[in-house]
Amino acid sequence: MKEIVVLSGKGGVGKSVLTASLGWLLGGKHRVTLADTDVDAPNLHLTLGAELQTSREIKTSEKALIDYEKCLRCLQCQEVCRFSAIIGTESPLVVPYSCEGCGACAIICPAQAIIIDKVVNGRINVFSTKRLVVVAGELHIGESSSGLLVDMVKETARKKAEQTGAEILLIDGPPGIGCPVIAAVRGANYVMAVTEPTPAALHDLDRVIQVIRHFHVPVGIVINRAGLHDASKNAIYRYAEENNHSILAEIPKDRMVTQAIVDGRPVVAAYPDAPSAKAIRRLTERVREEIML
Ligand code: SF4
Ligand code: SF4
Repeated sequence: MKEIVVLSGKGGVGKSVLTASLGWLLGGKHRVTLADTDVDAPNLHLTLGAELQTSREIKTSEKALIDYEKCLRCLQCQEVCRFSAIIGTESPLVVPYSCEGCGACAIICPAQAIIIDKVVNGRINVFSTKRLVVVAGELHIGESSSGLLVDMVKETARKKAEQTGAEILLIDGPPGIGCPVIAAVRGANYVMAVTEPTPAALHDLDRVIQVIRHFHVPVGIVINRAGLHDASKNAIYRYAEENNHSILAEIPKDRMVTQAIVDGRPVVAAYPDAPSAKAIRRLTERVREEIML
C-alpha cells in the first residue's frame, strides 16, 4: 500500500478540497482509504458528502484531578503550577484547558490529594461514501496533543485500509510545520505540497518542504488558484527548479469549486467539465505515475 500525504505550509490554500477530489478520482481506479489528520478542523468528509459510520472517544492527554475529601486547602499546588492552571482563593480548582498534565502539583501535594489521569480530548470518526472510507480525527476545542491524535488516526486508517485491501492511503495533512505535520509525514511514500501564488505562500511552502526533507520523501508541488498573481507563480517555478522539485499541476481559480463545496461534493464529481476538475484529473494521473501504480 502507498501512503500519499497532502500538505500545505498554511491553512486556506484549498488543500482539503483538492484532497477530496484526488481521493474521489483515485477511488474510481483503486481501493482508497482517506485519513483526515487536520484534527483541529477536520472537514474532508464534508467536502466528500460522506456519512458517519462510527465514532469513538480518545484520550491522548492527562490532567490533574483533585480529591477534595483529602485536600487540606493549603494551595501549595497553585504556587507550583507554572501554567496557572489552578485557581481559587480558598479551595483549589483545576482549569482543564490550562492544565498540561505535568504532574508538579501531584508531587508537591502534602495530602496526596491529586492524581494525574487520562481524559477524553477528542474523537476518531469513520465516514464512508459509496467508493471511499474516511477516517478523521477531531480534537476537542482548546485541547493539545494533536501530534498523538494524528498518529492514532493514521493507525486506525491503516487498519481500515488493510481490512478493505486498499492500495492507497491518502492523507489530508494538518496545516503548518509543527508536531502534527511530522506525525503525518512519517511513513509516507510521497508528499504533495499545495501552495498558491501569493508572496507569503512561497515562504510557507519552503518551510514545509524543509520539514519533509528530514524524512527523505519525494515531494511534488501543486499550485492552486494558479491565476492569482503571476510574479508569485514565477517565483514558485524558480524555487522548484532550484530545489529539484516537480510542479505537478496548476489548478485554475474556479467558482465551480466553491459551488461544489456548497453542494457537499468534490468538484470533479459535481462539475467534471469545470476547468479546475479537468486540471485535477491531469494531476491525479501525474500522481499515479509518480507513485508508480
Ligand atoms: S496541594 Fe493538595 S492539599 Fe494543598 S490545596 Fe492543593 S490539592 Fe489541596
Ligand atoms: S498537572 Fe501541571 S499543569 Fe496541571 S495543574 Fe498540575 S502543575 Fe498545573
